[in-house]
Amino acid sequence: MNIEILKQAVMDSRDGITISDNSLDDNPLIFVNPAFERMTGYSAEEITNINCRYLQGNDREQPELDIVHNAISQGEYCLVTLRNYRKDGAMFWNELSISPIHDETGAVTNFIGIQKDVTSRVLIQQQLRDEHQSLEQMKMHFEQLSIKDGLTGIYNRRFFDTQLEIQCKIACRNGDSLTLAMIDVDHFKSFNDLYGHPAGDKALIRIADSLSHTFQRGSDFAARYGGEEFVILSNGMTHDQAKLYVESLCQRVRDLKIPHCASTSGYLTISIGFSVQTFGPLQPSSALVAQADKALYRAKQRGRDQFFQFLDV
Ligand code: GH3
Ligand code: MG
Ligand code: MG
Repeated sequence: MNIEILKQAVMDSRDGITISDNSLDDNPLIFVNPAFERMTGYSAEEITNINCRYLQGNDREQPELDIVHNAISQGEYCLVTLRNYRKDGAMFWNELSISPIHDETGAVTNFIGIQKDVTSRVLIQQQLRDEHQSLEQMKMHFEQLSIKDGLTGIYNRRFFDTQLEIQCKIACRNGDSLTLAMIDVDHFKSFNDLYGHPAGDKALIRIADSLSHTFQRGSDFAARYGGEEFVILSNGMTHDQAKLYVESLCQRVRDLKIPHCASTSGYLTISIGFSVQTFGPLQPSSALVAQADKALYRAKQRGRDQFFQFLDV
């Protein structure tokens, strides 16, 4: 091979090529090609005979630097991508490979560095990653929107409808009971009329929050069924447990002590109709809703601020 051609290949390479002398203190560069000068903005005179760590500026907290240091101390090859800084301070991503050259005894005499400015590639990768991340966040947001109620943040009617179907099938297969509590805020129209719609919204948020912190089982949940109506679906309760449970729900809302002067107690209250059923395979899940609804009607009839159980016996 003609040595002139080899020399020209190194001088004309579009990649930066450097050679360091490992036998000298601090492994300084002893050669840099013109592409390296263009990439870094430093002239060969400025940067030969010193170690090339000035390229890192003050940006030393880069995990890939450890890979470089390790390769140099072990006399091994490595390939890394580092944040480097041009003479004018501009950052660029440097894809750097380091290869050792050995003498006849096997000692490492030099390292050849090949450097590529891969800034545009890294920036595009970063942009794609960011876009992917924000798409994921948007997806999660939309998924939440499609199952959560916008005002109260608890599950919405759509979620309830699909869950009811699923839970009925599971309960039927396992022979478990399902309890459905239909909850309606008492005299809520007059609450809005007296205190204003925004106060009504706040009251619904507080009630929803209070109802949704009462579950014992992971599959139980509360949903906003309609305007001032909520539902709770719970798995595996006995009649007695369900009764105690809905009683505690009424009490929780009383304890919120939201003043309502048109209410008998002086505070906002709820009425609950509930049904506890062990499902057969042919029973439609809608039957449970209809039963709870009927029971709710009776609770309202009987004076509100109370619960009523549907007992189809
Ligand atoms: P009852 O005790 O028989 O349930 O009486 P009620 O006044 O609660 O029942 P009605 O169905 O007549 O009124 C329900 C009211 O709930 C009417 C409606 O303005 C109010 N409402 C429904 N959705 C919302 C909401 O998102 N925000 C507010 N502030 N009010 C709502
Ligand atoms: Mg209602
Ligand atoms: Mg109501």
